Amino acid sequence: MKAIRNVGSYLFGPGALGRLEEVLRGDPRVPAGPVVYLVDHFFAGFTAPLAKLPQRPLDRLIFMDTTHEPSTDQVDQVAARVRADFSDLGGLPGVIVGMGGGATLDMAKAVSNLLTNGGQAADYQGWDLVKVPGVYKIGVPTLSGTGSETSRTCVLTNYQTGVKLGMNSDFSVFDQLILDPDLTATVPREQYFHTGLDTYFHCMETLNGRARNGIVDAYSEKAIDLCRQVFLQGDMQDQSSRENMMIASLMGGAAAGNTGLVHPLSAGLSVVLGVHHGLANCLAMGPLAEFYPPEHAEFLAMAQAQGIKLPTGLGADLSDEQIGKLYASSIVHAKPLGNHLGEGFRDILTPARMAALFRAM
Ligand code: ZN
Repeated sequence: MKAIRNVGSYLFGPGALGRLEEVLRGDPRVPAGPVVYLVDHFFAGFTAPLAKLPQRPLDRLIFMDTTHEPSTDQVDQVAARVRADFSDLGGLPGVIVGMGGGATLDMAKAVSNLLTNGGQAADYQGWDLVKVPGVYKIGVPTLSGTGSETSRTCVLTNYQTGVKLGMNSDFSVFDQLILDPDLTATVPREQYFHTGLDTYFHCMETLNGRARNGIVDAYSEKAIDLCRQVFLQGDMQDQSSRENMMIASLMGGAAAGNTGLVHPLSAGLSVVLGVHHGLANCLAMGPLAEFYPPEHAEFLAMAQAQGIKLPTGLGADLSDEQIGKLYASSIVHAKPLGNHLGEGFRDILTPARMAALFRAM
């Protein structure tokens, strides 16, 4: 049994981003020093949300390149840049505000941890390796589904070692969140769907797993219920659906239970082929109907209801070498695979069985 740490406080509702200045200047819990805004590069072309960031002369805005999944190198580089910019303040800003999707939020959490703990991002990939609290961090999600806003991890890929692993730590939890559903109105539909389904997969994998916790189950059940409302009733991106998706993502991240089969296969696709997490989950679910019969049918119904065409044909072009790498980078996720299949998961997911699954994607 382990104590659960949640986000300190959050502000939720349309227009919430407009209240950021009040939070930064009026909340006594927020340190007074300069603010570093780490913003998804997607927003470089949109002046309206950026204009809502209350920037002062000493503050910095750095765009995060989210073309690829966040890497340990990228976090090292951003942390080094922040240290250089604030060298006269001991290399530390007062606050980090991360604004973007899961990739940006994860990088903001990792940079915050790294600035106070020193060393390199790869030193903290694993469980409870972060030693002291990071720089005070505020998250502003602009995409719903990853649950990064409430989770105690920040997933990073080390492209030198092929390890995709988070800094799992109580210190990776945001101190505050600004949850503004207006921000998810401009997300491209496919991306909105793939990312939203991340919550659905997290929660249904948890509820189908062996390791269970009553609080996690309750969060997961409610998050799935909200996903059904979003994706099976009306338009997924209208005002009320965006609000519901934001709440579902929040609950899915707070649940952060152990996953099952979708996430390990998805991780393989991300590490070996560079496929983004949300899309990789949808691809991974494709051949898993026999493991998750009702959820697989529901997933297809959700895509159909929203007019989303799911990608097919990826598996046909994979070389034997790629299949070998995909197997290796999926089967390492013993905890979630065992959570669904038990300790003998390697006897069920043999290299041949896994190859067939990847070829069917
Ligand atoms: Zn996920």
